[in-house]
Amino acid sequence: MGYSVFLIKEISPFLHLIMSLLVTGTVAFDAIETPFGKTDKIIGGAATYVSLAASYFTKDVALVAVVGDDFPQEYIDLLNNKGINTKGLQVKAGEKSFFWSGRYFNDMNSRETLITELNVLADFDPIVPEGLESPDYLMLGNLAPIVQSTLISRLKNRPKLIVMDTMNFWMDIAMDDLMKTISMVDVLTINDEEARQLSGEYSLRKAARKILAMGPKYLIIKKGEHGALLFFEEEVYFAPAMLLEDVFDPTGAGDTFAGGFIGWIASTDDISFENMKRALIYGSALASFCVEKFGTENILDIDANKLRDRVSDFRRLSYVDFLTD
Ligand code: AMP
Repeated sequence: MGYSVFLIKEISPFLHLIMSLLVTGTVAFDAIETPFGKTDKIIGGAATYVSLAASYFTKDVALVAVVGDDFPQEYIDLLNNKGINTKGLQVKAGEKSFFWSGRYFNDMNSRETLITELNVLADFDPIVPEGLESPDYLMLGNLAPIVQSTLISRLKNRPKLIVMDTMNFWMDIAMDDLMKTISMVDVLTINDEEARQLSGEYSLRKAARKILAMGPKYLIIKKGEHGALLFFEEEVYFAPAMLLEDVFDPTGAGDTFAGGFIGWIASTDDISFENMKRALIYGSALASFCVEKFGTENILDIDANKLRDRVSDFRRLSYVDFLTD
């Protein structure tokens, strides 16, 4: 049976195959400002969004990350309640959690980072707890590239697929480490601006060719409200973004996308290019929920029917039947 039938009819829960997924990245406090409002410190971080999104597809999600003892237990409970294993979440006594603050402009496509306080992240040693060293899949969410590569080196076996996300912050301050980590992964996800910065090319086609030559087999370039591109060898697949009535806060959309992407791959245990195209649609569908409210609010409890309807909307968005004789 093709997934397309399975995909529409049985959107959730995807518990047919229990493949383990290990996630790293920041678990953080975020303070966000958009034209629609402002938040104080709320739960954020790349690994938070990734694991919440992935938890809709596989119930075997574990985190390796770090917070300070200022991080409320209720936030950790929130992750646990979604079935996310936080045995690998270190809580550092007397230290402060990673803090990020950003402001979006009117078009919501561009943002300015106001504050990045590494705090506990500055000397994070990613210890992988016993029992979690052989994940089927690995998602390296955004954090220091040296931590991402250290985590890979600590696993007992190479996962079936390693997906990595990163951002311009690390290109600016840790380019050598970043290049090393990029050479170790299978899929790299970055946004269009970062692809241009990393490659030195304006054309995304040329940028993709150069980045694929750095090591990854696949490259995903996220283009915000303009969708996402998946590159593999000389092929390219495009997934649109949902045209939403309202976008309140794009924070975490990229991470939610990545979590949906790897969650779908893990739940189907299929790393073919064809299946990655489906994963792109699931990632985009989850990201479209994320931006409709502030922070993680809208991805804490997505109704299975709503998710199914949104995936159907995505299919309709660019599907056309060319009549042939
Ligand atoms: P996104 O909007 O998907 O790019 O991700 C936003 C999330 O990334 C926020 O929740 C931040 O806490 C986190 N973040 C921001 N800057 C960094 C950084 N330099 N390293 C890791 N995570 C970051």
